[in-house]
Amino acid sequence: MRKQYCYNCQREHTIKEVKEFREYTIKDTKVSGEITIFLCKNCGEEIYNKENEINNDRILFDDYKRKNNLMTSQEIKAMRENYGLSQAVLAKLLGFGEKTITRYENGAIQDKTHDLLMRLASVETNFLQLWETNKNNFSSRVNDKIKKTITLPEAQVFDYKPDSINTVTYNTKIKNGGVYCERC
Ligand SMILES: [Zn+2]
Repeated sequence: MRKQYCYNCQREHTIKEVKEFREYTIKDTKVSGEITIFLCKNCGEEIYNKENEINNDRILFDDYKRKNNLMTSQEIKAMRENYGLSQAVLAKLLGFGEKTITRYENGAIQDKTHDLLMRLASVETNFLQLWETNKNNFSSRVNDKIKKTITLPEAQVFDYKPDSINTVTYNTKIKNGGVYCERC
């Protein structure tokens, strides 16, 4: 049985977990979800528990993110775990502050720019481009891990030459009313 200090009883008591459906408004968006409330078994007062509050926030803020077409905390976490990265490494790779991914995974709402970057990074080819331009900033241990995690054939990434676009020649000939145009 989980015990916690109750400020009402001024001593430690067993806590009771209750599920409750609650509705809130976050920045003009109505959100709802089933959250967990901790109650003191002795007096019935609600007990604050930091870890539980984070979980509840995540449920409600994910509903906000879903309704505003933003990646949810779960989706961000799944993307990061798919690459086998720590929160700090993914943040660094995307050029975010060190704790930024941690905050997003805990429910904090990302701005649109960060959301787009994370969406792009969830596609492996994009992720590899980010890593390629950034890999000097990481330890060889991290780089080896990324190399092992990504299954994409190397050629798709490492043979990419942005300059090749300049060498393309256009051979299209336009015919105008059956009359061949020399200028085109
Ligand atoms: Zn109590």
